[in-house]
Amino acid sequence: MALSGLEIYKYLPKENCKECGVATCLAFAMKVAGGQAGLDACPRLSDEAKTSLGEASAPPQQLVRIGAGEKAIEIGQETVLFRHEDKFHHPTAVAVCVNDGLDASALEERCKAIAALSFDRMGKTMGVDLVAVYNASGDSGRFVEAAKTANATAKKPLALISPDPGGLRAAAEAVKNERPLLWAMRADQDLDAVIAAAKDLALPLCLEADGFEGLAAAAEKTRGAGLKELVLSPGKTSTSAGLEFLAQSRRAAIAKKFRPMGFPIAMLAMDDDPLKAVVDASWYVLKYAGIVVTNSVQPEQLLAILTTRQDIYADPQVPVQVTPGLHTVGDPGPNAPVLVTTNFALSYYSVESEVESSRVASNIIAVDTEGTSVLTAWAADKFTAESIAKALSETAVAEKVSHKKVVIPGLVAVLSGSLQDDSGWDVIVGPREASGLVSFLKSQWKA
Ligand code: SF4
Repeated sequence: MALSGLEIYKYLPKENCKECGVATCLAFAMKVAGGQAGLDACPRLSDEAKTSLGEASAPPQQLVRIGAGEKAIEIGQETVLFRHEDKFHHPTAVAVCVNDGLDASALEERCKAIAALSFDRMGKTMGVDLVAVYNASGDSGRFVEAAKTANATAKKPLALISPDPGGLRAAAEAVKNERPLLWAMRADQDLDAVIAAAKDLALPLCLEADGFEGLAAAAEKTRGAGLKELVLSPGKTSTSAGLEFLAQSRRAAIAKKFRPMGFPIAMLAMDDDPLKAVVDASWYVLKYAGIVVTNSVQPEQLLAILTTRQDIYADPQVPVQVTPGLHTVGDPGPNAPVLVTTNFALSYYSVESEVESSRVASNIIAVDTEGTSVLTAWAADKFTAESIAKALSETAVAEKVSHKKVVIPGLVAVLSGSLQDDSGWDVIVGPREASGLVSFLKSQWKA
């Protein structure tokens, strides 16, 4: 039975040293009870306490680290079935597959293309998290070379995928210091060899086998052998079977506390039809996958998957916001426009991207509305003549420009008179939507 925070607290050292990343032992106990932290995070916990607390305090889903150093990623340790119950904690790792059947130069080119995929969205830089090296050739020598090339060229954490435990061990040994994920296809057919390779090299292991029962049995045996960092995969499935598996395994882990399924799930979203691959990957991201492997290196396809991930892994209880204050686009001179919006990320980045498209270097003031949009903030008295005048004054933007004209969103045109009175600036009512800014800045703005 799950332990309460207070029951766990009794066993903790009560030193409040913060080494677990939490301010007090009591707060740490509460996180462990909520499944948001594992006992491993407290380096001062005695072996005796670990034994006493045992499995009862383990998170319902294991945290798995893949890669080494700053490049390392974490997946798993999710605590809820539905995002609105709390939030999803560790974003799905997006992996692109390379196979060792390619000749050396084609392999290198593909790895370079993967490394170059980088997107800025809502103030975050996103890219591919993992390179999945697939032993398509069946030749362990080629697999080793492909793993080395992917490691040297893509410079991303690796997943090494093979049905051959010997090939997996050889490739893993070649890049062992990078802490790759060993992905054993048909693991149930040679489980002892797979377990031995992962144990000897101290690496995380992905078990691929058919069906829920087959995977649960393989996971239970692997757990019994002392391996904790596991990932489970049903292998290649239809979209509907994949989604059914994801929902079933997540429910078993979180709602039923069924330990053999308490691991992140890796899914294959590979298809000759790139649209289908993107749609499958996006479904799997939305429905609990810890890793999705796709075969596309086309930027527009990857961006669709990463956008889905960014949205579903945003904390629903925290408005996505940018830092309030003065932001600039380009190198604004004394005649540059001064535009005002709120610090809700979607509002701000919509304005910023349209200003960028206009190629008119500008000042943008993000007024602190606690991350709410223009109309919501106006209705809640957070985007008022007073708050805009205050932002104009605090950012000292008047010292950077030679005029006193400020552009406000057309949706709050009603504020123009009072803002003029409060701030002493001439108020220009801009377009109602950010999409009107390009033509506004090019044809209407005059300092
Ligand atoms: Fe308490 Fe351990 Fe956290 Fe230190 S690391 S605050 S002793 S729980």
